[in-house]
Amino acid sequence: MTIAPGKYHIWTVGCQMNHADSQRVAAIMGDLGWEEVPTAAAANLVILNTCSVRAAPELKAHGQLALLAHAKKQRADLLVAMMGCMIGNQRTIDDLAQRYPVVDLFFKVEQADILPTFLEERWTPLAVGDGCVDVAEVGASRAVSMERAGALLPVISGTPMAITPKPATRELHYPGQLAESARSVTAWLPVVLGCNKVCSYCIVPSRRGRERSRPEDELLDEATALVERGARELTLLGQTVEAYGLDLPDQPSLSHLMARLSTIDGLQRIRFMTSYPRHFTDALIHEMASLPKVCEHVNIPVQHGDDGMLQRMRRGYTLAEYRALITKLRAWWPGVTLSTDVIVGFCGETDAEFAHLLDLLREIRFDVVHVAMYSPRQGTLSYKWEDDIPLALKKERLHAVEAVQQSISLELNQAVVGTTQEILIEERQEQGERMLWKGRTRSNKIVFCPADTTAQPGDVRPVRIDRASAWSLQGTLLAGV
Ligand code: SF4
Repeated sequence: MTIAPGKYHIWTVGCQMNHADSQRVAAIMGDLGWEEVPTAAAANLVILNTCSVRAAPELKAHGQLALLAHAKKQRADLLVAMMGCMIGNQRTIDDLAQRYPVVDLFFKVEQADILPTFLEERWTPLAVGDGCVDVAEVGASRAVSMERAGALLPVISGTPMAITPKPATRELHYPGQLAESARSVTAWLPVVLGCNKVCSYCIVPSRRGRERSRPEDELLDEATALVERGARELTLLGQTVEAYGLDLPDQPSLSHLMARLSTIDGLQRIRFMTSYPRHFTDALIHEMASLPKVCEHVNIPVQHGDDGMLQRMRRGYTLAEYRALITKLRAWWPGVTLSTDVIVGFCGETDAEFAHLLDLLREIRFDVVHVAMYSPRQGTLSYKWEDDIPLALKKERLHAVEAVQQSISLELNQAVVGTTQEILIEERQEQGERMLWKGRTRSNKIVFCPADTTAQPGDVRPVRIDRASAWSLQGTLLAGV
């Protein structure tokens, strides 16, 4: 397969999983000899990695598609591909293809290996000769580019056509390539894709499909490669990460996978997200707590503080069950910290129900709360229900959650002042005139301290915590352990 070199740009919105997927796609493009560029304007291929969880990122994608449709009229060499949560089943693909003929390829991440075939069939550099024409030059003259396109690009100068690979099969084929540009101290390792749950507001299951776990051996090889490239901390990703292995022949558990990953020399820390309460078994808690490399932090969405709301959300657990799980986590995993996700303004949420949510936050005292306003998504169960909470009230409730949580986070962070914490240094950051090391404690608190020459990214160092805000800690780097 011979594919002329070109330039690509990946536009990514959404969760960590999307960002991890984009890195893998970047690796495939890198293997093809394509150069990543920071803007769509400079690219021959633009890949939109989309998110449908809320209306806002979808609107952004529609905005990008409109811009690209305009750009494509001026630049006949421009190819557009789309992936991520907006790509659901054949029907959603057909709808998008009809609305946006600018898109040349729709694919799911597990179909990313179609990219070489796609480019071989659809990509022809605008000028024959030494590689592709500089796109800045192409963009400089619409008349010239269209004229050249007509002469040289019979394949892509016609009506844009959507290539729609077969919908994802049950078998998971996640791209294992690692991007050169993705060398960093922390890395994502997607372990289970999709979701089998039926939360009434959530579009993910219909867009990402059922839970599909990657084989342990494949993950071990990939994790080893990531560590060889400099990663010191891996975050195992899944929409419901404790569901890892349930669909594999031997049903290895997440903690079994973590135990195997723990044997990798040079790997210092293992994190995981996102947790689903019903899958977090007693055995998992004990096993994770016994693995020194697994960091004591759990992101475990509760979504609401009222049983009636949880039922309407079809979350599949009661508050009593959730509270019992939190009690066990805190009892059996010393030092564990907790973050959660909540939704305000879901269909029919009364003042009293919302007050129960604030009560729960005050009771559990999460370290971090991610709060979102409900936004109806077509294709979900709740889309059929009345979205009856006015936007102004949703915003008011969102700010109320933020205010309650801010004071809790501040109190919890202030309790750490004066202690010594171990941080993994992730990067150097400029703050005004000062250079700071940014790192994280094992409990996932962000720490800043003056950057000195005795440390470098990837080091695990003790830090004395001097000050705290609701969002981060500031400290002083101490001599190595
Ligand atoms: S557990 Fe619920 S909210 Fe989370 S991805 Fe699955 S369906 Fe969506």
